[in-house]
Amino acid sequence: MRTQVCIIGAGPSGLLLGQLLAKAGIDAVILEARSADYVLSRIRAGVLETGLVELLERAGCSDRLKKEGLVHHGFCLAFDGRAQRINLSDLTGGRSVVVYGQTEVTRDLMDARAAIGTVTIYEAEDVTPHDFDGSRPRVSYRKDGITHEIECDFIAGCDGFHGVSRRSVAGAAIAQFERAYPFGWLGLLADVPPASEELIYAHHERGFALASMRSTTRSRYYIQVPLTNRVEDWSDDRFFDEFRRRLPEDVAERVVTGPSLEKSIAPLRSFVAEPLRFGKLFLAGDAAHIVPPTGAKGLNLAASDVHYLSSGLIEYYREGSAGGIDNYSSRALARIWKAERFSWWMTSMLHQFHEAGDFAARMQLAEFDYITSSTAAATTIAENYVGLPF
Ligand SMILES: Cc1cc2nc3c(=O)[nH]c(=O)nc-3n(C[C@H](O)[C@H](O)[C@H](O)COP(=O)(O)OP(=O)(O)OC[C@H]3O[C@@H](n4cnc5c(N)ncnc54)[C@H](O)[C@@H]3O)c2cc1C
Repeated sequence: MRTQVCIIGAGPSGLLLGQLLAKAGIDAVILEARSADYVLSRIRAGVLETGLVELLERAGCSDRLKKEGLVHHGFCLAFDGRAQRINLSDLTGGRSVVVYGQTEVTRDLMDARAAIGTVTIYEAEDVTPHDFDGSRPRVSYRKDGITHEIECDFIAGCDGFHGVSRRSVAGAAIAQFERAYPFGWLGLLADVPPASEELIYAHHERGFALASMRSTTRSRYYIQVPLTNRVEDWSDDRFFDEFRRRLPEDVAERVVTGPSLEKSIAPLRSFVAEPLRFGKLFLAGDAAHIVPPTGAKGLNLAASDVHYLSSGLIEYYREGSAGGIDNYSSRALARIWKAERFSWWMTSMLHQFHEAGDFAARMQLAEFDYITSSTAAATTIAENYVGLPF
């Protein structure tokens, strides 16, 4: 088989890239290791920046988002019971975010892909990129016991943090920067109305908590837990008890409990690989970087990579200019590092770092006091939260 762009991974990065390229008349095949149902069953992000919403519009995948997405004009920071609303719209000249689950974004992109008859090969085993530094880039994979090869002009590695694309690059050609945090987030999804109309990020002496939602009837709640904890240690009742303890009292009273639809622990990590281009291979999304979810940047950062990469590829095929793809790595990384900074900073301010001592704890309190007393400080948070411009 031959295609123009072979995309590895059918997560949001790969699907969005495929759809934007298809809209521009560029042929792309997606190879995905898992089944479509498995990809759709992963519960992940849910806060969309305007930049991602606009890309989904361009991809022709925003009808349901516009009907069902919840536009949020603010969110709340809580610190040991004190609360401060960050008014996103007032502080950013009317901007906002949209709450709409990553699962729904993925479903809309998959449906759009199916509707125009583009090729996605699910349950592809041993996907391997070849000769991306040479003149015959191609990707091999096995399906139903038979090995296949796809010849292409370019390979887009959109296969997440554990994917094969980044691992295929020679060690000397890539620099990797990483911070692993000594805790994770235990998340619970339940069909209960959210305790608050807007998200609440809560610092508490027992650990961080986040009251989030996917719709007006579905809540997504998180608590900071040690990495040694196992999901089996946390019954739904134990989760809700702990979650309530960490929220401001009036919000805790509004928490409605219900059986979990999903419960999982995600470790927190900051990670960036540089550069993002190796000959004919590009890295995008979680394949290239990871942020801790405090700040809701992971999915949005994947989208900004796709924006730069798709524009570069479209420019290449339409105008014969390699300028966009040559600049892809530096343009994307400039934005990635800023989102890394914001996510690291939000994580540092809001979580319990017991080993860091009393001084660090007072610094967190000073950060919060500053935010509550300075419009400039609140504006800095707001402009990062709604998303820096592409
Ligand atoms: C548990 C969890 C919770 C999260 N919660 C949040 C959140 O609350 N807010 C937020 O903003 N972000 C969150 N994120 C981050 C966000 O979900 C990611 O940034 C986003 O999914 C990135 O999309 P992607 O397409 O780049 O990568 P992925 O979504 O990881 O997709 C990569 C795809 O590649 C496939 N793949 C992997 N290896 C191969 C291979 N060898 N061959 C072929 N295919 C392969 C995978 O199966 C997957 O479908 C969370 C992430 C995780 C893991």
